[in-house]
Amino acid sequence: MTPKAKPETIAVAAGRMSAEHFGSVNTPVYRTSTILHESYASLKAEAQSRYSYGRCGTPTTESFEHAVAELEGAACTVSLPSGLAAITTAILTVVSAGDHILVTDNVYGPTRRFCNGALKRLGVATTYFDPLIGAGIEALFRPNTKIVFCESPGSLTFEVSDVPAFAEVAHRHGAVVMMDNTWATPLYFPALERGVDFSIQAATKYIGGHSDVMIGTISVSEEHAKLLTGYVRDAGLFASPDDCFLALRGLRTMPVRLARHWGNGLTLARWIAQRPEVARVLHPALETDPGHTLWKRDFTGACGLFGVVLKPVSETKLAAFFDTLKHFGLGYSWGGYESLIIPAQFVRTAQRFAADGPVIRIHAGLEDAGDLIADLTGGFAKMEAA
Ligand SMILES: *Cc1c(COP(=O)(O)O)cnc(C)c1O
Repeated sequence: MTPKAKPETIAVAAGRMSAEHFGSVNTPVYRTSTILHESYASLKAEAQSRYSYGRCGTPTTESFEHAVAELEGAACTVSLPSGLAAITTAILTVVSAGDHILVTDNVYGPTRRFCNGALKRLGVATTYFDPLIGAGIEALFRPNTKIVFCESPGSLTFEVSDVPAFAEVAHRHGAVVMMDNTWATPLYFPALERGVDFSIQAATKYIGGHSDVMIGTISVSEEHAKLLTGYVRDAGLFASPDDCFLALRGLRTMPVRLARHWGNGLTLARWIAQRPEVARVLHPALETDPGHTLWKRDFTGACGLFGVVLKPVSETKLAAFFDTLKHFGLGYSWGGYESLIIPAQFVRTAQRFAADGPVIRIHAGLEDAGDLIADLTGGFAKMEAA
């Protein structure tokens, strides 16, 4: 038996079907709705054919999904039109009216909105939990609890959760664990190995990697594959072949890009932690971060996204800081090749997040770290002068 390939090799090799595409290295974009059959008999035997209808998969979508599945160590990956669609689809695959789910308090904001809105309307109740609750999550379980939904490190505040502890408790209670694993990607947090049942990626971020595609994935083991693919088929969900093509193109270089995002992010985080304007930095790869021990135990790397709590500062000064920056775009999303910065706004209902000043979120892109530091230095100078 050949040894299991390393993630860098899988990212390059997985999902390729050159022999079926005239030797082309990449699977081309198949834009199709109708799949024609050669005969009456083959039409009648449609269930046996590999491709039956555009919505149900094309070679392009299949190449992308196979590549992600291999990276995730999953039996099955499905692609959806956005990261948020992957999140809501995963939840809807499992819940019924009358069920209860547990969701981390630092979850991506739109996930919370879905739970509080559409999911509540469908008769599913949500309890938000402190991301640091660990095995104590057991106290929140009800007989009808079906999902523990976590995100680690969490959106905007970057607390690290004890995901294996959640999995141990959830499985004992017959519930599944879903994880929004966009921050670490399967490269830096092997979610399924850590006990997660549904590993979710906003592939819009690091998999796509170029700020030009919206796409999401859900990856599961054999145990949940039938349920997931059945729901996705019945709900008519799929990601476009063009988007799968772009996402797969991004995936090929993700290990190289992520290593640099990690390095640049850590360089910026260490530098900014020394600034007099900064109260604390939210980055689990920093030795001083409260989540560092768990991060070290469970993760194999960090991406370029982290938070900074500033000391109290006026809106005028904050605006002067943001408006001076040249290399940091002011905009949502992250995971592309370019640096970004935003003021962070978030809701917490289970656990107050203690910060006296504003929280900002930085995405370290692939630029030269010295140039990025010079840019931030200029921003802080303008902040002081304003
Ligand atoms: C961006 C993001 C999403 C949503 O992805 P979209 O493709 O924008 O829908 C989900 N989770 C996290 C953590 C994100 O940052």
